[in-house]
Amino acid sequence: MSHIHRRQLFRAGAVGLANFIIGEPLTHEAEAETRRGIFDAHLHIPSDNGENFQWHLVTRNMSEFVAYLDKCGVRRGVISSSWSNKAQTPDDYRNGNREVAKYVDRYQGRFRGSCVITPFRIDEALREIEECHKQYGFVWLGEFCNYMTNYRYDTPEWGEVMKLATRLNLVIQIHTNTKEMQFLAENFPDTTIVFPHLGGNRDDIFDRISIVARHKNTHIDLSGSGIERVGILERAVKEIGAGRVLYGSDFTINEPSAVISRVKNAFLTAVEREKILYRNVERLLGNAGHRKG
Ligand SMILES: [Zn+2]
Repeated sequence: MSHIHRRQLFRAGAVGLANFIIGEPLTHEAEAETRRGIFDAHLHIPSDNGENFQWHLVTRNMSEFVAYLDKCGVRRGVISSSWSNKAQTPDDYRNGNREVAKYVDRYQGRFRGSCVITPFRIDEALREIEECHKQYGFVWLGEFCNYMTNYRYDTPEWGEVMKLATRLNLVIQIHTNTKEMQFLAENFPDTTIVFPHLGGNRDDIFDRISIVARHKNTHIDLSGSGIERVGILERAVKEIGAGRVLYGSDFTINEPSAVISRVKNAFLTAVEREKILYRNVERLLGNAGHRKG
């Protein structure tokens, strides 16, 4: 072994050791993530009245909720209140929406608030949506879950909610089965809709992806079942395009880092990953709340 060769080996070893200690240079993607932060389009906060969607409670209050998001690398998110989702009276959803406003304020810049109502007393519901928008600056509605308090999306009352969302240019996130999804996508082409969840089985997943692909005003968030099936995310991006696929976790129900892992490991470009992890939701929020054009 020559002296020069030995020196080269030493140098290579030293560089390798330095990389090991300091860490590899950040990729473009990792750098952007560090700077901007992953943005979760689908979060349910633990409510002050004890309402919490977790089946066995482990994150009991807002500080435990935020600490868990930190652990998962979720830096930002759209939050709604489970109190509002389970509302038996307008006072329940008003209280829920006000606790959302309180936490948006307390965790400056980390969360964007979302308003949830039930459509039973429609005049009060519409008034609450306007108030959340005008007084608290919310530009997002939902996640609406009709199965929780038993209402339908094909009624004149729900049509009023959709019309108001369109008029105020708000994003509306609606939990649906495939039939409801088809109905809303077809009947409200001017409304910016986010449909959570890929689907429960193969046919369901493929149908839901194709509905979103065909309706340019609609988006899908990756929370819930379906994402754990390797290849489904790639199919969604291929059919819909990365611009209308959003990272969402449905935490406190589901694990935020499970969806992030699949997005990171998926056969996607760095640009597609960035769109899914935060750019799309930033764009939706940025464009919402004022008239287009
Ligand atoms: Zn949800």
